[in-house]
Amino acid sequence: MSKLFYQTKSPRPMLDRADGIYMWDTSGKRYIDGSSGAMVSNIGHGNPAVLSAMQAQMAQSTFGYRLHFQTEPSEALAEKITSLTPEGLDRVFFVSGGSEAVESALKFARQYALTQGEAQRFKVISRYPSYHGATLGALAITGYAPMTAPFDPMMQAMPKIPAPRAYLDGLDIDDPATGRHYADMLEAKILEEGPDTILAFIVEPIGGASTGALVPPAGYMQRIREICDQYGVLLMHDEVMTGGGRTGRFFGAEHWDVTPDIIALSKGFGAGYVPLGAMIARTDMVEAVLGAGGFIHGYTYAGNPLACAAGLAVLNEIEANGLTQNAAQMGDALHARLQSLMQRYPLIGDVRGKGLLLAFELMADRGTKEPLPAEFNAHSRLVDIAYENGLIIYSRRTRGGISGDHFLVCPPMIVTEAQLDEIAEILDRSMQQLMSELPAGCVA
Ligand code: PMP
Repeated sequence: MSKLFYQTKSPRPMLDRADGIYMWDTSGKRYIDGSSGAMVSNIGHGNPAVLSAMQAQMAQSTFGYRLHFQTEPSEALAEKITSLTPEGLDRVFFVSGGSEAVESALKFARQYALTQGEAQRFKVISRYPSYHGATLGALAITGYAPMTAPFDPMMQAMPKIPAPRAYLDGLDIDDPATGRHYADMLEAKILEEGPDTILAFIVEPIGGASTGALVPPAGYMQRIREICDQYGVLLMHDEVMTGGGRTGRFFGAEHWDVTPDIIALSKGFGAGYVPLGAMIARTDMVEAVLGAGGFIHGYTYAGNPLACAAGLAVLNEIEANGLTQNAAQMGDALHARLQSLMQRYPLIGDVRGKGLLLAFELMADRGTKEPLPAEFNAHSRLVDIAYENGLIIYSRRTRGGISGDHFLVCPPMIVTEAQLDEIAEILDRSMQQLMSELPAGCVA
């Protein structure tokens, strides 16, 4: 028996090897990595350029403590990443994952407020549902009760507003009035809490696992920026899942041309080759914090040369092979395939997302948007059926605000049209199987 105790329903097959969008277990069974792990393996598995950059770095050094040495890979990666950030966001703090990136953003924002003589600002508003990480700081701003509830007494309670759910509320996602409607909930919350107590607002530009690729309505992201500016609230973009090209732009927020004050980045940045993340902040904020004695924060493995060499090679591969553009094109092609599945299966009530951050949602009734009964466990059953059929997808059922069982279909950005056909064919077969298992009459 395994000595590990990760939370899985049953023991998982032993991974043997992985190449491109495919993975094999030790029995020889092949899987399509249709969710890039947890939306991580953006450039696919076994990329030769990344592996050789890692090997070259390993031969030189694998660790240089950041307080003892500068390292070339971390300097080069910081240069590269800031060539992709919006103007003014020019300083980088490396970490080893998404939770660490968010945690760093929270502490950095707080220290910045102190330099501005605003010690009363400490509340970070976030949305429900949302996911920002597993550590207690990041968890306090996460809107997902099944993960937060056991730890509530250990955390500072933080204010939350609903994520925009235009498709459930029957509002037009392309109408700027819809964006304003949801964004104004931020203003109401700021006023309710007391504007001078609010440190920041954090948002996933496109929802990840928590909402299933929920795209904000027209005008929402811009209006949020205006409200933050009006009340002196810092705007944090959690681009842990959306950053790195998956949505068809390097940063998800580029779709709305909005510049935040702080960005959290991970997942597709290390792309599954190494644990890597970054907190990127406005230059003037960094200078203020450094001027006041420095950022009181850090992780031992931060900026390690091996991780940074891999990260640099990942970014170079994305650029050299036009993978962000491919994510946009293949995203449209996959979206069309999911739409045609929706036409065939009334159970699919919504298809959404951008680029290759795509999801579909199952509902008992498309008209009323009524979810399937929770006891059907459709979110885990369809994933299991697809897994049996050799396709890995990622699902969640979110209660409270955004209902239903949603499934993220997010293959690596190297995916081809022919491979999308394979994915669609397995999804089709898996949906048929799910339908045959559901009680008759449960779908309107
Ligand atoms: N923020 C977002 C938007 C995420 O999707 C995740 C991971 N699912 C995290 C933060 C936390 O990242 P990690 O699991 O690498 O700590």
